[in-house]
Amino acid sequence: MIMGRIRPLLGVVLAVIATCLVACGGPAAKVPTTYTPEVLQQVELYTPGVAELRDRFPELESYIQDQDWVDVQSFIHGPMGELRTRVNRLAATLLPKDQPQAQALAKELYGHLERLDEAAANGQQVIAGQEYRNALDDFDSFLSLVPTFE
Ligand code: ZN
Repeated sequence: MIMGRIRPLLGVVLAVIATCLVACGGPAAKVPTTYTPEVLQQVELYTPGVAELRDRFPELESYIQDQDWVDVQSFIHGPMGELRTRVNRLAATLLPKDQPQAQALAKELYGHLERLDEAAANGQQVIAGQEYRNALDDFDSFLSLVPTFE
């Protein structure tokens, strides 16, 4: 019953969006090369959630040093479980020219964390340490693209 009433409305909304895309998009549309105050506000909104995870990141280092593999894994799946969502959301607000690099660095970061998780499962301290440092480097490179990160 409810869906029946929503569907026609959805059609109207989609038609409006399509019209706008045709009208506002196309070859004439300019790709922004600097941050508008509106976009900057969005970046500002999503930065703290990522900065908070960056601040906590070194907790991993102490677990690795102690060969505390249970805590390494709980930390990756616990507090860092939000990392992908937050980083992806922030990456999507960056300038179009910075987005490919931001996305590549984000992907690198997730890859290192996956391999760190694996190294922890196997008790491989050297590999865990390497993946931790590489993850941190990629995390910091990503953040260097974020204009509101200090
Ligand atoms: Zn890397």
